[in-house]
Parts: sequence; structure tokens; C-alpha cells
Amino acid sequence: MNNKEKIKERILDALPQLQCKKCTYKDCESYANAIIFDNEKLNKCEPGSSHTEKQITNILNNIKVIESNEIKDFPIAKITVEECIGCTICIKVCPVDAIIGARHKQHFIIDDQCNGCELCITECPVDCMEMIPNKEKNAWKWPGAQANISKKLYNEKLIRAHRIKEERKKSHLKNAQDNKIQLYIKEALSRENFRRQKIKEYE
Ligand code: SF4
Ligand code: SF4
Ligand code: SF4
Repeated sequence: MNNKEKIKERILDALPQLQCKKCTYKDCESYANAIIFDNEKLNKCEPGSSHTEKQITNILNNIKVIESNEIKDFPIAKITVEECIGCTICIKVCPVDAIIGARHKQHFIIDDQCNGCELCITECPVDCMEMIPNKEKNAWKWPGAQANISKKLYNEKLIRAHRIKEERKKSHLKNAQDNKIQLYIKEALSRENFRRQKIKEYE
């Protein structure tokens, strides 16, 4: 790992790991990359507030300690299940697999897993989702176990999405190859039929 990569990893540790896109990047790692490799502004992580900006400034100035940071009483998502139509959109957008449900069935939030990113709220087509205070009145803290779990769940989701994409690609390729083989056989049979007809004509 070169020096820039090491600094990037430290910046990533200083970010909340909500993967909420509020910084306008697709996830915390993309924002950390933009800071290091593209001179992006340091104040774009809204959930991290000015404390995160200060931490990143310290890291870039080679001050070693990464202090802990927190969002007090962070909110979590809630579904009014009676209104849920089971469209599955919220499952797709949730970065940390904190929603369960099947197509056309009611969906539910896994409270302990929800990091409060709010990504699902605006996507629900029937507006049956809202943010509420978490019952335990917990704070969202990082760096640490909570943020690490969120990062791990997100990375697992990325790996799964990549695997599904590759499998679909392989399946399309196989279908295309099968179609090619079918066409080849059809053409060979047609040639053979034509040849036999010709033989009959000369008999
Ligand atoms: S937590 Fe901060 S850095 Fe991570 S995606 Fe959200 S806004 Fe961006
Ligand atoms: S349930 Fe909603 S608010 Fe909670 S982590 Fe998933 S997308 Fe974010
Ligand atoms: S997006 Fe809304 S309607 Fe669709 S499954 Fe989720 S909660 Fe239900």
C-alpha cells in the first residue's frame, strides 16, 4: 500500500460509514478517494458535520490520532406495514440489507441494522416510510464496531451485486452460444436435405 493509499484508509476510518450519498459520492470510500486523488473539499460529509472535516484536515496534516465521532440519537427508518405494497424498491436501495420482505408482501426494518442513511425514504412509491428516533436512544459512533459492521454489510452487498451481474452476463453469453449452435445445426440439416433432394433428381 503506497502512502496515498494509507492516508485514504485513515480518511475512510474518519467517515461515518452510512454510505448515504449525501456527499454526492456513491459511498464513503468514493468520497475518501476524491479527497486524496482529486482534491475534493473536506466539508461534504453532512452526517459527519464539522468534526469530520476537522479530523480529515488533521489526517492530511499528518496528525496521527483519529478521535471518535458520533451522531447523537440517530434516527432509523420505519415502515407503516399496512400501507406497504411489497414493491421491493427499498430493499434494493438499502446499502446495509436492513430491510426484509418478499415481492407483493409487507416489508420490515431490521432496527439494529439500520444506520439511518435515509436512502429508502424518498424511494418508496406509496410514501409509507419515515424516519423515527431509535428506541434505544443510541448514538451512531465511529470509528469502531458499529461503523465497521455497516461497512462490512455494504461491502458484502457490493460483492453480491457484482456476482449476480457476472452470472447474468455468463447466462446471456451461454444463451447466445446455444442460439449460434442451434442455427449451425439448422443450416447443416438444411444443406443435407438440399443435397439429398439433388441425389434423388439424378437417380
Ligand atoms: S456518510 Fe458521509 S462520506 Fe459516507 S456516503 Fe454519507 S455523506 Fe458521504
Ligand atoms: S432501512 Fe433505510 S434508512 Fe435504514 S439503512 Fe436501510 S436505506 Fe438506510
Ligand atoms: S418501497 Fe415502500 S412500498 Fe415498496 S416495499 Fe419498501 S416500504 Fe413497501
